[in-house]
Amino acid sequence: MLKWERISNRMTPTGTVEVRVNDDGPLGWIVGIVGGGNPNNVTFGPNLIVSNYNLDPRDVVISHEIGHMLQAQMLERLGYNYLLSYVALLTGSHATHPMEQDANRRAGLPPDFPDNGKPSGYVSPFIYQVRGHP
Ligand SMILES: [Zn+2]
Repeated sequence: MLKWERISNRMTPTGTVEVRVNDDGPLGWIVGIVGGGNPNNVTFGPNLIVSNYNLDPRDVVISHEIGHMLQAQMLERLGYNYLLSYVALLTGSHATHPMEQDANRRAGLPPDFPDNGKPSGYVSPFIYQVRGHP
């Protein structure tokens, strides 16, 4: 099943991103491998977030992934490839990767999210609507 979301907030232009949930195609497999076999999500660029499970569109993880989406928009405007930039900065820890911390900052999350779970009282800075897609 595919879901499409329209994203906006006070600081960024409106955009549209495709969120693929329960993706069992090649990208879904990659997401699973990257996640070490666990439920996982990967933002592949400014217009595509892929999940290998049935990600709830209200989940805080969506806001983190939208943070990556905004990175991808910015990097591609500057002429950089988002995924290559991510790999180039690869560190041993998700919590210390500069692009993970930046995605969390953009989403108003603690720098080491999701290591300590969802912060209490969290409200996403992003406004988005979810539209089902056949
Ligand atoms: Zn991330």
